Amino acid sequence: MDETKESDTSRHFLRQWIEEDHAAGRTGGTVVTRFPPEPNGYIHIGHAKAVCVDFGMAKLFGGECHLRLDDTNPTKESDEYAENIKNDIRWLGWQWSGAGDGKEPGFYNASNMFDTMYQIAEELIRRGQAYCCNLTQDEWKEYRGVPEKPGRPSPSRDTDPERNLRIFREMRDGKYADGEWCLRAKIDMASPNIHFRDPVIYRIRHVSHYHLGDKWCIYPMYDFAHPIEDALEGVTHSMCTLEFEVHRPLYDWVVDRMDEQGLLVVRNGVKIRPQQREFARLNITWTVMSKRLLLQLVTEGHVAGWDDPRMPTVCGMRRRGFTPGAIREFCDRVGVTKVESESDPALLEWCVREELNRTALRRMAVLDPVKLVIENFEGARTVSKPNNPLDESAGMRKVPFSKEVWIDRADFMEVPEKKFFRLAPDREVRLRGACIVKCTGVEKDADGKITTIRCTWDEGSWGGNPSDGRKVKGTIHWVDVATGVKAEVRLYDRLFTVPDPLRDGSDGFLKYLNPDSLKTVTAYVEPALAAAALGERFQFERTGYFVVDSKDSTPGAPVFNRTVTLKDGYKPA
Ligand code: ATP
Ligand code: MG
Repeated sequence: MDETKESDTSRHFLRQWIEEDHAAGRTGGTVVTRFPPEPNGYIHIGHAKAVCVDFGMAKLFGGECHLRLDDTNPTKESDEYAENIKNDIRWLGWQWSGAGDGKEPGFYNASNMFDTMYQIAEELIRRGQAYCCNLTQDEWKEYRGVPEKPGRPSPSRDTDPERNLRIFREMRDGKYADGEWCLRAKIDMASPNIHFRDPVIYRIRHVSHYHLGDKWCIYPMYDFAHPIEDALEGVTHSMCTLEFEVHRPLYDWVVDRMDEQGLLVVRNGVKIRPQQREFARLNITWTVMSKRLLLQLVTEGHVAGWDDPRMPTVCGMRRRGFTPGAIREFCDRVGVTKVESESDPALLEWCVREELNRTALRRMAVLDPVKLVIENFEGARTVSKPNNPLDESAGMRKVPFSKEVWIDRADFMEVPEKKFFRLAPDREVRLRGACIVKCTGVEKDADGKITTIRCTWDEGSWGGNPSDGRKVKGTIHWVDVATGVKAEVRLYDRLFTVPDPLRDGSDGFLKYLNPDSLKTVTAYVEPALAAAALGERFQFERTGYFVVDSKDSTPGAPVFNRTVTLKDGYKPA
């Protein structure tokens, strides 16, 4: 997929907004965006959407997109998460760029800005724009009030800067317990926007930070930290999800204070004022996306890890065989809007099929094997088949064929139903690319299960068509018994049985886990597949798209994950 293509969905309001600013010279010549994940989990398809918007807009305008780890919240953050986030973004096809705050271009840690944030806070205090407050959490809520009625001022609201500076430094120096004091911006206790009623901007937390250890016991709040990070990095356009729309006036307030303090970046003579705009988050049916619930699925063992192919995480989708191009195409098709909606995973699967149909090599694999013996077939031959009928340059492959082949149990019926055109007693079927066989009988075990299907072949039909021109309707795939390779195949289905697993709230979602979301079978596959590379994707003819599992495959013994079935009824609007 060409992500610079000008599809209708990419002509969205964010793009127009950036276009105008850029044209008016407000970017100082460079559009700068950022993707700001918190390194407290793995990124999922929702984050992938934000990644595509943030990196996509920067690319469209020839600008920069920074990768900023928003590590201002000391708990639950780790370098393992951070490394995986980087890996996933690169895999999705994006690369951060710009100056960076260390050795790596375009890469920032918000925690590297703690010193500056602290200095900005002190300056707010000196200017009478912030004060230390020791209301309890409950009192603070009660004083703040409801949007319809002005709130009440904290008794600390009009205290003098010197006292506040002293207490703030004592907070920093560890003199107080968590929650005893906080620093609040002095804005407007009567504002109808509750976030404007003297919001907390620093709080005490005696918790070690994964990079800075115990250097700090006070940490900035998101609403204070985020605009500072954007401004210090020279970000021009800061895009986030809709729930932050009501926080925007506060974002602007912080940027104004930085301007007063002379802290805005100047690029090509233009003072860069970062601006925030919001778009609807991506919601997908048949799954959950909150990091907390994904973590619960992992820790309670409902899935095999963050990269379980049933997870909506980027690493899970990768292991499932989804392609970066299909994920980007999906994000593009969902589009950028201001209205919350839910997307069907069938659209993503459709995008995956579209791409794999063009690119995946064809192979034959029999997932539910039963042996077919061709009584009058002598010796061994090879069938030459195209690797991809849609792509001549993919070349041909040779597939061994002899007297015994595996076929899929579902391709034979002892008593055929009305519209069943495949193999049945006394009927003919085409073994794809090889020849026509006719069923002469079956052998069964003690339980009546068919163990062997006996056939004869039409010796004039080599290549697949009878010499007398008679019609043979059914064509089935097969794998030669003598050379076929045994392989574990994992058939994945939806993780939940209902489109809205959170219908009873987040406590009840586990009861909608799909007990059949993973079925493991032992299949026989073409010999060529024994040498398949980890992560290589194939179309198993008539069956679906499969990928070589990157974790559990061993040399000569690949494990295959089903990415998607070959078809379903879904068509995008
Ligand atoms: P979660 O709620 O799953 O824990 P989060 O929003 O707290 O996720 P962050 O790491 O803070 O996770 O998110 C990084 C960026 O990704 C933010 O800009 C956020 O708005 C965006 N993002 C997260 N989830 C979605 C989503 N479902 N759709 C679009 N963007 C999203
Ligand atoms: Mg967040």
